[in-house]
Amino acid sequence: MQTEQTDILISGGGVAGLSAAAAFGSAGFQVIVVDPAPPVTEGAADGADMRTTAFLQPSREVLEKAGLWARLAPFAAPLQVMQIIDAGGTEPVARVQKAFNARDISDDPFGWNLQNWLLRREMVARLEELPNVTFRPGVGTADVLAREREARVRLTDGTMVSARLLIAADGRNSPVRNALGIGVRTTRYGQKALAFAVTHPIPHDNVSTEIHRSGGPFTLVPLPDLEGQPRSAIVWMERGPEALRLASCDVAEFEAEMTARSTGLLGPLKLVSRRSVWPIISQMAERLTGPRTSLIAEAAHVVPPIGAQGLNMSLADVRVLLELAEAAPDTLGSPEMLQAYARKRAPDVRTRITGIDLLNRASMAGAQPLRDARAQGLKALYGLAPVRKSLMQLGLGVR
Ligand SMILES: Cc1cc2nc3c(=O)[nH]c(=O)nc-3n(C[C@H](O)[C@H](O)[C@H](O)COP(=O)(O)OP(=O)(O)OC[C@H]3O[C@@H](n4cnc5c(N)ncnc54)[C@H](O)[C@@H]3O)c2cc1C
Repeated sequence: MQTEQTDILISGGGVAGLSAAAAFGSAGFQVIVVDPAPPVTEGAADGADMRTTAFLQPSREVLEKAGLWARLAPFAAPLQVMQIIDAGGTEPVARVQKAFNARDISDDPFGWNLQNWLLRREMVARLEELPNVTFRPGVGTADVLAREREARVRLTDGTMVSARLLIAADGRNSPVRNALGIGVRTTRYGQKALAFAVTHPIPHDNVSTEIHRSGGPFTLVPLPDLEGQPRSAIVWMERGPEALRLASCDVAEFEAEMTARSTGLLGPLKLVSRRSVWPIISQMAERLTGPRTSLIAEAAHVVPPIGAQGLNMSLADVRVLLELAEAAPDTLGSPEMLQAYARKRAPDVRTRITGIDLLNRASMAGAQPLRDARAQGLKALYGLAPVRKSLMQLGLGVR
């Protein structure tokens, strides 16, 4: 059988893989992207990804360069203020409430929130505009033979592809990573996240709020209004059995429980989407590269959904890879390029995994003394203006 040649083969057409395809395609590279699961591009369809992604400032530049931002901007809700509430007292009420305003560090908002199913729709449409990008939904990676000169990949339809660079964006159980024998270090928390959308009578005013009590954070992120009603996306983390109970209880009971858990911040919350459930882990690949191969996104690192870091870390992977490729296109996929990628990304990934792990453990705390210490810690950090600003910059990924 004939072998197809390409600059880049991307294994995985999730949001990270599609972003990478648009970024490298816009830069003029020949790209093939494959995914056995065709993307679901309508919110009401079965299997639609009901999560939202808060893209932080540095990610916007990546999306602009990829020709995606102009398509996405009309659907984005800006995040001007990030608020943290501690509701860990004996009663579920806000006892410490601190707001971080993007104005203190920048003219732009912290970020912009978008629905994941809509991201897929706009990304697939962008790839159709790029003649040098081929997207093959319904076809996956079957086998990988990565050598110093090329990555040879057999696809599930029998096609052979030879790529100068193979980008593994095929998720937390990455088949490419497994084929290369790269191990992972995984932390399990026994938690799950519920993701869904709500409307509420009180406007969110572009404030994103993380509420801590026990079991994990309850996070409200602004969305554009729905038929004149203020709307937010919610990620609610709890211990596994409690999350499953909440996912299946009847809607009236669920609405009452989530309104109480939100401390009544935006008034009574009304469920306007399905509830989807996501397992929560931290994970990092033992290496970020193999011969002619780079791991990106969840194939390389998984974090609990706190501080909107997951996909933003993935776009940082794409930015670094693209910078290296554009600086020396002839060296695409070479050992030097891949070493430089790992050197630039691994320390940042490690730091963020460690930081988010600590935040998650603090948020899960059930014992009252630990919850009190968390509230005191929040007050102390907030009280020091330079620390507060550094934390904001660190969270954004601009330091
Ligand atoms: C509840 C929740 C909320 C979140 N909120 C945010 C947020 O606000 N901001 C943020 O930055 N991040 C957020 N994240 C993280 C973010 O959603 C993930 O980082 C992101 O969706 C993962 O993208 P991915 O493309 O790496 O993986 P996936 O979406 O898992 O994509 C992997 C793809 O690989 C494909 N695949 C599997 N096998 C093969 C094969 N053999 N060949 C080819 N392809 C294959 C799969 O079909 C899939 O489409 C959140 C996560 C959760 C759980």
